[in-house]
Amino acid sequence: MTARADPSQVAEVRAALERALGPGAVKADPDQLRAYGRDESDTGEFPADLVVLPSSASEVQAVLRACQSAAVPVTPVGARTGKSGGSLPLHGGVSLSLERMNRIKLISPEDLIAVVEPGVITGELMKAVEARGLFYPPDPASLDSCTIGGNVAENAGGPRALKYGVTRDYVLGLEWVLPDGRLIRAGRRTIKGVAGYDLVGLFVGSEGTLGVSTEVTLQLIPLPRQVMTALITFASVVDAARAASAVLAAGVLPRTLELMDDLSISAVDGRGFSFPPNAGAALLAEVDGIDEASVLGELGRVGEICERNGASQSLAAQNEDQRQKLWSARRSIAIALRAVKPCKISEDIAVPRSRIAEVISRLKAMGEELGLAVATYGHAGDGNLHVNVLYEGPSERPKVDRAIVRMLELAVGVGGTITGEHGVGYAKRDFLHLEQAPELISLQRELKRFFDPAGLLNPGKMFPEI
Ligand SMILES: Cc1cc2nc3c(=O)[nH]c(=O)nc-3n(C[C@H](O)[C@H](O)[C@H](O)COP(=O)(O)OP(=O)(O)OC[C@H]3O[C@@H](n4cnc5c(N)ncnc54)[C@H](O)[C@@H]3O)c2cc1C
Repeated sequence: MTARADPSQVAEVRAALERALGPGAVKADPDQLRAYGRDESDTGEFPADLVVLPSSASEVQAVLRACQSAAVPVTPVGARTGKSGGSLPLHGGVSLSLERMNRIKLISPEDLIAVVEPGVITGELMKAVEARGLFYPPDPASLDSCTIGGNVAENAGGPRALKYGVTRDYVLGLEWVLPDGRLIRAGRRTIKGVAGYDLVGLFVGSEGTLGVSTEVTLQLIPLPRQVMTALITFASVVDAARAASAVLAAGVLPRTLELMDDLSISAVDGRGFSFPPNAGAALLAEVDGIDEASVLGELGRVGEICERNGASQSLAAQNEDQRQKLWSARRSIAIALRAVKPCKISEDIAVPRSRIAEVISRLKAMGEELGLAVATYGHAGDGNLHVNVLYEGPSERPKVDRAIVRMLELAVGVGGTITGEHGVGYAKRDFLHLEQAPELISLQRELKRFFDPAGLLNPGKMFPEI
């Protein structure tokens, strides 16, 4: 599919949905269409023809049925914090926003599960379960704004993936509307359960291309009673990366080990938290557990290993306020880097942990060779690096594109991946072949055709358009 949706077919869908959902659920105001045509991928603006806001699974079914019957493309949308362009309606048609489906339906301390609608904001769910002494660990840095539906679609990760895993590890069951409007329930409410194919495993991470989630059953765990956090600074990012590998090789498992290079630090320095002067790089280490003594001991071990590996300073947060300030600095890097240069491309490679220091050195050398500013931060503990190329404008774009290809080739060459958590979407569809063999890509295309023979659900994502 390459053309935009046909206006008369869009009009047919609009009339059908205004009847089925009410006029308040169907928007065509140009400002709103433009807003839903952008996300955090910096890949451009692709306005839909209609934004539709269902409030229930049966309304989602009605939207998908109307789009199928009029052959109009439809793209699911969460909170548009995506960094791979997954929610962009490339061919117009309908932006199907799940934002009104934002109820937490159940939190069960007995069964250790939560049942939620897809539009629930991730951070809101975290707060609600923590108030009951429970823990939902996946913590994308966008947690104050992104949705559980978007997290499921992208199989979102976050700093705590190092110890606790990613979204997929917590999704037990899904209510799911297929592209033709049929509603299915896959998965379970129990930890164990192996009946049938693992369709939940397939749907998680399918980037809004195989169906639309309308309810998610999530596993919870008990809330760790003690959490301690430290900022450990280094002269250079390569030293910090080596120290991160040394910590993990010593058999210590912090719940986060976040890396920030000099450019990332200077972008957020002074915004609520001041880094020690001359910090060329930093690790944000966080340890959790049951009792204070063991957690303190574990954090002490992390500090010692880092000192042996070149750390210049180790500052433990003394209270919750200091902890939150450290995290707020870390979480604002992505946004703060936008102020450094007019344009930025944010990459999301993951490499084997033993290769992090080497990869960072090679990326720095590449930046110097091409005359580009390269900022690296991310989840060093699990090898997931957000490498940001900052540049002045379109005249530098060809150089930036060369840098991106070299970076992705480097990641794959050392046994890593082109995307650790942001997904392929639109931004990386032309690079999937760097990592996956043609047979694997064509098998996935067949899978997509099986679920969505007309190719109307989120067209143009994951694979290059033919
Ligand atoms: C500052 C910042 C920090 C970030 N940090 C992280 C991080 O640490 N880890 C991480 O993994 N990501 C991170 N991200 C990326 C982004 O927040 C995640 O990909 C998130 O999961 C997207 O959720 P969303 O609700 O915004 O979804 P959107 O961006 O709206 O959509 C993302 C994809 O999900 C699909 N989708 C949305 N809802 C549904 C549904 N109900 N059913 C089917 N498909 C659906 C869309 O079609 C699209 O393909 C960050 C982004 C920003 C801006």
